[in-house]
Amino acid sequence: MSRRYRLALLFLGLTTAPLPATEVVWPTTLDLTAVRSAQDYLQPTVSGRLESATFGMVREEGLRFHEGVDIRPGRHDAAGEALDLVRAAMDGQVAYVNPHVNGPYGKYVVLVHPGAELPVYSLYAHLAAIDPAVRLGMFTRRGLTLGRMGRTSAGASPITPDRAHLHFEVGLILSTGFNQWYAAQPDNRKSPNLHGLFNGQNLIGMDPLPLLGQRSVDVLALVRRQPTALTVVLRAPKVPDFVTRYPVLARGERGKAAGWYVEFSWQGMPLRWTALEAGNPRLPAQGWQIAEVDVTQRPLLIRRKLLAADGRKPGELLTQNVGILLSTAR
Ligand SMILES: [Zn+2]
Repeated sequence: MSRRYRLALLFLGLTTAPLPATEVVWPTTLDLTAVRSAQDYLQPTVSGRLESATFGMVREEGLRFHEGVDIRPGRHDAAGEALDLVRAAMDGQVAYVNPHVNGPYGKYVVLVHPGAELPVYSLYAHLAAIDPAVRLGMFTRRGLTLGRMGRTSAGASPITPDRAHLHFEVGLILSTGFNQWYAAQPDNRKSPNLHGLFNGQNLIGMDPLPLLGQRSVDVLALVRRQPTALTVVLRAPKVPDFVTRYPVLARGERGKAAGWYVEFSWQGMPLRWTALEAGNPRLPAQGWQIAEVDVTQRPLLIRRKLLAADGRKPGELLTQNVGILLSTAR
């Protein structure tokens, strides 16, 4: 190759805009060179079925949702407890630290990633211990140690030492009005919200596996590639904070919006928002309603409770998510 050609290539490399990319590291200290297949990094439930460690309706005969991926340890101490460290998957900021074992996540840390194409959260649950250097609001480089892998959980069934794992989740926060929404639900009177905005009900995860094992990803593209399963039209006097926090997911004139056409993924993530002006015939007279359903996804939507058992009316999860999304828009 001539010197001139090499220089030309170099020049090309310098002038081509880099593709949008968020750099990612594996969120534990597992030796990836020893990973040959999925069973080398996934930690299934007591069922032993590998699929139960992945994202989706993968538990209890497809009736129970798992909102993240369960990553197994690579090293144990003499007592059989996990020794792996848990690390920040992407550059970000510490948004929540829960050092108590008072819910299904046990001890957990949530990061937000304002530098990504879309400011997603990542969540690290069941930690044995949180690193004392991890403080609320601090900026974290990817790879920074957040704590030690464990099995803390106040869920119905304890996690035994042989099943210690990191529950890793990536997704979007539904609303900054969640606390008020939660307090207004009669069913919640006896169970206080211990986790504020980082209560699992306000966090909507997506499949984190396409993000793992990569050096870099386009987080926005991963969100957008999820197909629309169901659409909703809703009235909203004010702009929902979801739209303000994730403006790339919205189109149309926000200032003139009397409501929105919202496309949801099967697990209930609002993927795309289109502003509807007052007088738009699609807008319901009041409140909100389902506009369309992808019939091929109907059985899944019923199991996920986005649809009621009749396959037409809204299910309890859709009602809940829309209620949370509208909590700052009334
Ligand atoms: Zn899990």
